[in-house]
Amino acid sequence: MVVAESKPQPKVKKKAVPIPKQPPEVRKHNFNEVALGYTEEQALEEASRCLQCPQPQCVKGCPVEIDIPAFIKLLREGKYEEGIKKIKEKNSLPAICGRVCPQEEQCQKYCVLGKVGDPVSIGRLERFLADWERARGFTIPERAPPTGKKVAIIGAGPAGLTAAADLAKLGHEVVIFEALHLPGGVLVYGIPEFRLPKSIVQAEVDYIRKLGVELKLGYLIGRTYTIPELLKERGFDAVFIGTGAGLPQFLGVPGENLGGIYSANEFLIRVNLMKSYAFPEYDTPIRIGKHVVVIGGGNVAMDSARSALRLGAEQVCIVYRRSREEMPARKEEIENAEEEGIICKFLAAPTRFIGDEKGWVKQMECIQMELGPPDESGRRRPVPVKGSEFLMDTDTVIIAIGRTPNPIIQRTTEGLAVTKWGTIVADENGKTSLEGVYAGGDIVTGEATVISAMGAGKRAARAIHEYLMSKK
Ligand code: FAD
Ligand code: SF4
Repeated sequence: MVVAESKPQPKVKKKAVPIPKQPPEVRKHNFNEVALGYTEEQALEEASRCLQCPQPQCVKGCPVEIDIPAFIKLLREGKYEEGIKKIKEKNSLPAICGRVCPQEEQCQKYCVLGKVGDPVSIGRLERFLADWERARGFTIPERAPPTGKKVAIIGAGPAGLTAAADLAKLGHEVVIFEALHLPGGVLVYGIPEFRLPKSIVQAEVDYIRKLGVELKLGYLIGRTYTIPELLKERGFDAVFIGTGAGLPQFLGVPGENLGGIYSANEFLIRVNLMKSYAFPEYDTPIRIGKHVVVIGGGNVAMDSARSALRLGAEQVCIVYRRSREEMPARKEEIENAEEEGIICKFLAAPTRFIGDEKGWVKQMECIQMELGPPDESGRRRPVPVKGSEFLMDTDTVIIAIGRTPNPIIQRTTEGLAVTKWGTIVADENGKTSLEGVYAGGDIVTGEATVISAMGAGKRAARAIHEYLMSKK
């Protein structure tokens, strides 16, 4: 057994260096980034906590297999350029991942220091190096000689961008088709500016462009071209589908169509992509009431609630049908939301919405829940408590209970196997039921995480490369 793994040296500091943040009273009135990032001194201090384990457990928790101890070693030796290069061998979007990856459930969950104190803050160190590089200008890695093969990537979210970057580095000609007017997927239209500034997404997309990837914006595949057209008529040798899960789900309770009730998708697209928080400078107004209720317990619910607060709501309440322990949102973001004054009401679910004479929501009827035995997700199932209905006053409701895939590609691609949930069937390397067609990210797994979508893009890029190289 390796000594460093089983018995961390006592001189190692148990507490991680905290990340500086805007104070809650200030940040709840602006859309600027909440977490400000480590200074150089803080990054060096935190990096010095790493034990450089010979058999690092942290790497096993990283879906894109970054050599974590190697980049931390380079950082603490002051070799920042080499450090970011080490990360980028595996991850083309480090400034994004350093900000939004649920590291507490991935690399940091397995860090041996977590057994005696805080794990090493791997994500914050990754962010430090990525920000250091961006401030100085990106180094573009060498590309393999051209292979003469052409790959179409559908969707410019984390899955599509990662697959595109890896395929371009391998020498293929890569074109991304994106339906929206901006690349980034959920990174631009879902996650708010105060968690992930859009200039950072833009900079990392620019890096991918510089690798030689062509981006075609405003192309809705399934309408502009179909997949069979891309393969048979437009000269592509392979296709990767990374179209995500962008279709909102609704509750299906009476009154859901009243004015003042948004899906989280519509709300966040207006706020983030169309910048309604900067109205009238940007031409997208958004109506926000005094008493906002957000339904759901994931990152989408947290982002909606915190955005509503910043838009001027007096009170924002999250209503979640399970308890705090089952909340799928990142722990750090739940804490940030509560520090800002967001209220969480657990074990309750809406049963109907009540409108005023003009058709705007004014109240929500809820029912109390209790937790029964675990369901297929492994979490305890919420069960309504008979006769426990109660009313809540509200003038704005945001529904954030999940998203499913848009069916347009599935409907226009004959022979593409699809599950009953509308996700595309693909093996662990992204291979679908059609030759030369690969898929990965939320379109295959359903709603997941940025890094799992990137991991899928990476594996698919490897499989596409092998397929293309074996093809006469
Ligand atoms: P997406 O990011 O959805 O990208 C798909 C892209 O494909 C989009 O740009 C879409 O416009 C495009 N597209 C769709 N159909 C077509 C078509 N027919 N033709 C052309 N283009 C098309 N994950 C985390 O890890 N950490 C977080 O903190 C976090 N917070 C989140 C907050 C919100 C509000 C949301 C909604 C999600 C969050 N997630 C988070 C989840 C994460 O963002 C997703 O799992 C991830 O973005 C999935 O990546 P993807 O590339 O599969 O799809
Ligand atoms: Fe070991 Fe944690 Fe350092 Fe990884 S980050 S090498 S698990 S101390």
